[in-house]
Amino acid sequence: MTKRILITGGAGFLGSHLCERLVNEGHDVICLDNYFTGQKGNVVHLMDHKNFELLRHDITFPIFLEVDHVYNLACPASPIHYQYNAVKTIKTNVLGAIHVLGLAKRVKARVLQASTSEVYGDPDVHPQPESYWGNVNCNGVRSCYDEGKRVAETLFFDYHRMNSVDIRIARIFNTYGPKMHPNDGRVVSNFIVQALKGQDITIYGEGNQTRSFCYVDDLISGLILLMNNDSVIGPINIGNPGEFTIKELAQKVIALTGSKSKLIFQDLPADDPQQRKPDITLAQEKLGWNPSISLDEGLKKTIEYFKKVVETKK
Ligand code: NAD
Ligand code: UDP
Repeated sequence: MTKRILITGGAGFLGSHLCERLVNEGHDVICLDNYFTGQKGNVVHLMDHKNFELLRHDITFPIFLEVDHVYNLACPASPIHYQYNAVKTIKTNVLGAIHVLGLAKRVKARVLQASTSEVYGDPDVHPQPESYWGNVNCNGVRSCYDEGKRVAETLFFDYHRMNSVDIRIARIFNTYGPKMHPNDGRVVSNFIVQALKGQDITIYGEGNQTRSFCYVDDLISGLILLMNNDSVIGPINIGNPGEFTIKELAQKVIALTGSKSKLIFQDLPADDPQQRKPDITLAQEKLGWNPSISLDEGLKKTIEYFKKVVETKK
């Protein structure tokens, strides 16, 4: 059945893939964004589509719309961008959650929160199951994001318990793919752009910290499965459990691009988690979801995308 769907942060990396998937499925999609880290260019190809609407709006201000589903993705996701204006980041997380929950309560919409593996902080349980409460610094440089996302989860559950709002919470682990911003600052885009330009590859710390990388198409399928599931509300981990050190990622990118770039080592940012890997048992059992794209396969597709971006910027 055709649904009216609001996607906050719809012009960003994940949001634009979600807009495209849902428009192609025949839904009426409203993409809301203030263009802080997102770009119109990510969704411009959808603008002639009769099912697609673009709305410039900042989610720290209330919004009144009639919709069936809300995906709340508005929030910068890259550490350099969310730390650029930390107070704004926490406002986006907290006020943004209050505004989408208020909207969902008024019009009886279902609302999905893009939560994050960052709610586990620098985890001392490995891999991380949803039952783990996390190890988070509440006043560090990452706290505006980590704690903002944790409060957002609290708000979602309180609106659910107090007002029966129909919520879904996805804890997203590091996701990569085409349409990441080339200056986004996250590790996959940084390494690929550096390798393609023949620049030094910047490893923070010794590169022994680990991350688990999920290709964007797999992630989007997981979010949609969760939204459309009538009994599972989460929180539920969505990520690829394949775990790699940052040094291994750099070596893969160099091999796949055939680059002559050298590895250089820079200071590790404060509170940078040492290890991260999702336990996805719940997503497998409750949603029947499994990531299907390997890191090598996903990196190849992402490298093809960035080759075009780097070429047109020359
Ligand atoms: P992104 O930075 O590309 O997209 C975020 C979008 O939100 C951008 O278009 C930005 O302009 C918009 N935005 C920011 N503040 C806003 C505001 N106040 N009002 C309206 N729009 C605003 O990041 P992304 O990777 O697409 O992440 C999307 C969501 O998923 C974020 O909430 C992020 O925390 C979450 N997430 C992403 C990852 C990942 O690896 N990509 C991992 C965990 C969680
Ligand atoms: N990182 C790195 N070089 C870079 C960018 C990031 O070594 O140019 C490291 C970063 O310190 C972290 C990991 O890669 O350990 C993932 O960083 P990212 O910003 O992509 O995501 P997050 O830390 O939020 O998982």
